[in-house]
Amino acid sequence: IEIPSDIAGPAPRHLTTQVMVGNVAVGGGAPIVVQSMTNTDTADIQGTIDQVAALSRAGSEMVRITVDRDEAAAAVPHIREALDKQGITTPLIGDFHYIGHKLLAEFPACAAALDKYRINPGNVGFKSKRDTQFADIIEIANKNNKAVRIGANWGSLDQELLTKLMDENALSANPKDVRAVTREAMVQSALLSAARAEELGMPKNKMILSAKVSAVQDLIAVYQTLASRSDYAIHLGLTEAGMGSKGIVASSAALGILLQQGIGDTIRISLTPEPGGDRTVEVQVAQELLQTMGFRTFVPLVAACPGCGRTTSTTFQELARSIQDFIRDSMPGWKTQYPGVENLNVAVMGCIVNGPGESKHANIGISLPGTGESPAAPVFVDGEKFRTLRGPSIAADFKALVIDYIDQ
Ligand code: SF4
Repeated sequence: IEIPSDIAGPAPRHLTTQVMVGNVAVGGGAPIVVQSMTNTDTADIQGTIDQVAALSRAGSEMVRITVDRDEAAAAVPHIREALDKQGITTPLIGDFHYIGHKLLAEFPACAAALDKYRINPGNVGFKSKRDTQFADIIEIANKNNKAVRIGANWGSLDQELLTKLMDENALSANPKDVRAVTREAMVQSALLSAARAEELGMPKNKMILSAKVSAVQDLIAVYQTLASRSDYAIHLGLTEAGMGSKGIVASSAALGILLQQGIGDTIRISLTPEPGGDRTVEVQVAQELLQTMGFRTFVPLVAACPGCGRTTSTTFQELARSIQDFIRDSMPGWKTQYPGVENLNVAVMGCIVNGPGESKHANIGISLPGTGESPAAPVFVDGEKFRTLRGPSIAADFKALVIDYIDQ
């Protein structure tokens, strides 16, 4: 058997035109950017500042906020100012629907404070009467030297365009199903709007496109088509992904396939939080998706076996959880203190079946004693057996060794 010298990796990145959103580069070969969105009322200035700060600290490199009415637009410059005072330079994106043209015109300080405006071509399209609304936003963006995202959405698709494509399709020799025509309408909605923005003087390096859908197969098809027809920077996201594991699985499946195909310059994982839940989870999931696929590194990875009947004590689960939490909580400080720490791999294994082998592949790993094994836990450092831990303080001792390793 001939063993291939290389394994197939991701496809080369789809080369797009780079867009600067504030101080963050999107597309054109830049690292894939993690972004998220607040769910606070933007008019609640302090609540929004706190959530943007939390998302930013969790690793969101851009944060979108809703700008839906006068009070929200008036709040935006105050939010920006307060974040700047805290040293948080994360670009802010204004999410506009229906009346974005009006809000941006009437609140110039809001237009100036935002780094990007999101336009939904489904409700501020460039067709007929809405043409001036679209043109107004583009003009304000040009005047303020801001980027825009033209974000088509399956749930608010341009009905005029959809109807036109449905009519044309009905008359064609081989009509496609409704779903296929709707996918095409999504792509066209984004591309026609971008072309119109260019006619209005917006350069390509100020535009990011998205076409979000809630079904995985539709999303993959829509983005593949979008990428094949243009070189605009691309924002990936599954809309209405859902709650908990369903949202995480659906987003990871859809975005994982597209990223593997080289498509996507910035991602948002849209998760519905549990009531009172932590909004930063979506940032963590986005980071983990990019890191497990090998596109970026953010936080040291903790490899842990799933545990089985050989792990009778809770020490194993407790240790795996506490190491993971400890690392994540420490990262904001470690990032500046220990450059490169995000490349660290830690293994926490439940018994000798896979423990020593897996631990040897990590920078530092431990194989805890399983049922019937002697109460000893070998620790491996850089592939070599380093020490054996015993007794009731195995967890604390291993944690100390991890800290020592990072320190060194
Ligand atoms: Fe079970 Fe041991 Fe495998 Fe972990 S390493 S899953 S404890 S057999």
